[in-house]
Formats: sequence, C-alpha cells, structure tokens
Amino acid sequence: MTPKTALLWFRNDLRLDDHPVLAGLPDSIEALLPVYVLDPRQWAPDALTQIPKAGPHRLQFLLESLKDLKQSLQSLGSDLLIRVGHPEEVIPSLAEVWDPDVIFFEREIAPEEREVEVRLMDQVKSRWFIKTYFTKSLFHPLDLPFPLAELPDVFTQFRKKMEVHFPIRTTMPAPGHLPSLPTHFPFGEVPELEELISVPAPTLHPASAFPFKGGEKAALQRLNDFIWERQLLSTYKTTRNGLLGESYSSKLSAWLSLGCLSPRRVFSEVRRYEAQHGATDETYWLIFELLWRDYFRFVMMRYGAALFKKGGIQGKALSLGFNARAFDLWKKGRTGDAFIDGFMRELWHTGFMSNRGRQNVASYLVHHMGIDWRWGAAWFEYALIDYDVCSNWGNWAYVAGVGNDPRPNRIFQPERQAGMYDPTGEFQQCWAVYPV
Ligand code: FAD
Repeated sequence: MTPKTALLWFRNDLRLDDHPVLAGLPDSIEALLPVYVLDPRQWAPDALTQIPKAGPHRLQFLLESLKDLKQSLQSLGSDLLIRVGHPEEVIPSLAEVWDPDVIFFEREIAPEEREVEVRLMDQVKSRWFIKTYFTKSLFHPLDLPFPLAELPDVFTQFRKKMEVHFPIRTTMPAPGHLPSLPTHFPFGEVPELEELISVPAPTLHPASAFPFKGGEKAALQRLNDFIWERQLLSTYKTTRNGLLGESYSSKLSAWLSLGCLSPRRVFSEVRRYEAQHGATDETYWLIFELLWRDYFRFVMMRYGAALFKKGGIQGKALSLGFNARAFDLWKKGRTGDAFIDGFMRELWHTGFMSNRGRQNVASYLVHHMGIDWRWGAAWFEYALIDYDVCSNWGNWAYVAGVGNDPRPNRIFQPERQAGMYDPTGEFQQCWAVYPV
C-alpha cells in the first residue's frame, strides 16, 4: 500500500537538517503528524541512587529545543504535537484516533529506551506499519566493517579500522516544505520547566563557559561560529583541554545529545573547512572526538545492560562502596581540593564541565574517595546539560577501570593535573568565589 498519512515520533533527533524521514518523505504522504512525548520517567529518581535522572539545566535545554523544533515545523506549515506521558501509551492512543498509514521513529541504543520501543511495537505492530531509522552516530551500524560482536575492546583499534574508509553516509538537507497536518488534535504549547519539576528555571551564571541554548538554530549557529566565523577549528587540538571560556572545545555536546545537530553535519563541515583551509591535526581532532562518541554508541549496542553494572563490561569484582557524606562533599564541590571543587561547582551552577574536569572528578570519586562509580555517573546524569547515556556511562566505566580502557589503573593526580592545566590557578580562583 502506498502510505498517505504518517506519524513521526521525534525522540533524540530534534532537528530538520539531515533527518532521514523529513528529507526522504515519499510524495504520496499527504498528511504528517510530528509528535514529541515528554516522558516523566526521564526525570524520575534512579532506582539505585534515588537521584532524579534529569535536573533543571538539561530539562530547560530540552524544552528550548522543543520550542525551536515546533517553530521550525510551523514555519513549514506543520507543527509539533506535545504530550506528557509514556510514549508506548501515547503513540498508540494517537494512532487509534487518526489511524496513520505508517509510524516513523528513531531506534535508540540503551536498554531503557529500547524497552520503551519494544512495548510500543507490541502495541502497534499488528495494526500499523512501523518504519524505524538510525541517525545517532557518524557511522551507520550497517556500515561497520566488522560484525558488532567483533567490535574492538580498545578505542584505538576501532578508530584505525574506521579511518581506512570513513564510511559515512551523505548528509541530507532540511525539507523546504512539509505535508499538511491532521485536524484531529489541538497542538498546544511546549510546557515551562516549572510545570514539570518544582525547581526554578536556571539563569546564565556569570562564570559559565558558554551560554547554552537549546534547539537546532542555536546548534547550527555555534557550529558556524566555531568553524567558520572564529576559525577555532584551526587551533582545536591545542586548545581543547582548556578550562575557561567559550573558545576551548566545540561546546557541541548538548545539541549532539538531543539530536539538534547531526554528527554527520559536523563531519561534513569539518571536511568543507579542510578543503578550503587545509587539513591538519588540529582540524582532524574534532572528527577524532566524534569517533570516541561513536565508539561509546557501539559499545552500548554490544554490551547493553552490562555497562550499568558495578563490575562493568569486564564483570570485575570491585571493592568500591558508598559514603553519603563524602559523596555529598564531592557533589557540592566541598572536598577541600580546589581543582576538583572548582569543576564540581561549575557543574552544579552551569550544567557543564570540560572533558579534563570530567576525567579528574570521576577519577577522584572512584580512586581517591573509593565510592562506587555508578553514583558519580548518576549525579552526572542529573546535572549535565549534555548528558548522553552512551557517552556518560561509557566514560565513567572507562575511568573506573571496568570499561574499555586497556590500562588497568588510570588515576588522575589532581595536584599534577592542576599544575599542567591550571598553572596560574585562574580556574580554581574563578570557582572559589561561587560555593554551593
Ligand atoms: P569537544 O571536546 O569539542 O568534543 C566534540 C564532541 O565529541 C563532543 O561534543 C562530544 O559529542 C564528543 N566527545 C568528546 N569527547 C568525548 C568522549 N570522551 N566520549 C564521548 N564523546 C566525546 N559527553 C557527552 O556528550 N555526554 C555525557 O554525558 C558525557 N559524560 C562524560 C562523563 C565522563 C566521566 C567523562 C570523562 C566524559 C564525558 N563526556 C560526555 C565526554 C566529554 O567530556 C564531553 O563530550 C565534552 O566535554 C563536551 O564538550 P564539547 O562539546 O566542547 O566537546
């Protein structure tokens, strides 16, 4: 049957650019219903730690991203239907009313998100045609030059295999127009943060590294600014380990996490820049970091639930425990180590922390304080504006020595690290005046 009506369930693909469904809608589609479901389980307490799974910084960023997507869809004569509830109930109930010919959604990777999909499929597959797609990584899983079961356990081996051909599918432009909307539903507005959680919306902190704003437009603007306007790509590798300000590192992570920005778009812009200005180690390093991002996606795909276990994918017996008071001091940046505390205060106040900071505070929690790494990962899940299930749990497991690090005991010494990355103490002084 040629489909005439389609329901598109947006998940972590909140954009129009390089979107496989929007770019490839068959001409036969006469009506399209774009939907996003705000699932309260996204900010409910985590089972082990009771820490809520999303805090105000990320939820605010999500709501901004939804507003931006809604506006973009409206400018093409469409709209975004927002519902609060469980997708596996909301989507079937919408389909029941409107009876679309096909339901599109992006396949996720981690077990909880996959579980939602499985429940949804159980509800709808006998009545509606389902079509899924995958845009979460640079490389499509079908293009890996090896079976997933043979994914190298060491990043460098993965990278070298992928660098041979870079099998990256071409990006697709945003659509110029969209099919009409069904008239069955009131589309409503994106809720405000206070309607979801009883915490006020965060405001821009004076020491914030970057004024993060959700949505595809802000993402494309930062990409353009970073690569073309300010040419920061030319010094990316050298400056990436900075700790203060907008210019070090790309700050693209939060948009990549929600899919406001396609990793393939970043890749193609880097290549375009290199074609005009020359390819160097500096410019390549952004692709190198995206390979890390991809790697953790495939690790999650391969190992699934094992990545959330204390012994990680290695099934190691760890002697790490939990101490509520010590954990609280770490969380609030009151350990007494100014370097560690600076990072934790930055995270608390702004929702962001540099990669150098993340490595140091994670190592400190696990190796200096002897606390179960899963508590740290859960705190990051709550506090980070750019939380991404694969990158967060993959990196935490790596630092804890139960993931993909070939070196068994990678311990960061804060004093040495501070000497190397904050030699004048500027970063530590900056955050010393903002206690939690
Ligand atoms: P850049 O340094 O400019 O890198 C460009 C992009 O590459 C990033 O936006 C990100 O998408 C990707 N990237 C870079 N480093 C890594 C890495 N080590 N692993 C995976 N992807 C990477 N990143 C997240 O996006 N979400 C998380 O929840 C997250 N949790 C982390 C937890 C720990 C303990 C550690 C050590 C790292 C974590 N990272 C996470 C990875 C990394 O720290 C951030 O992606 C980066 O700091 C974001 O800043 P940026 O966008 O300026 O990155």
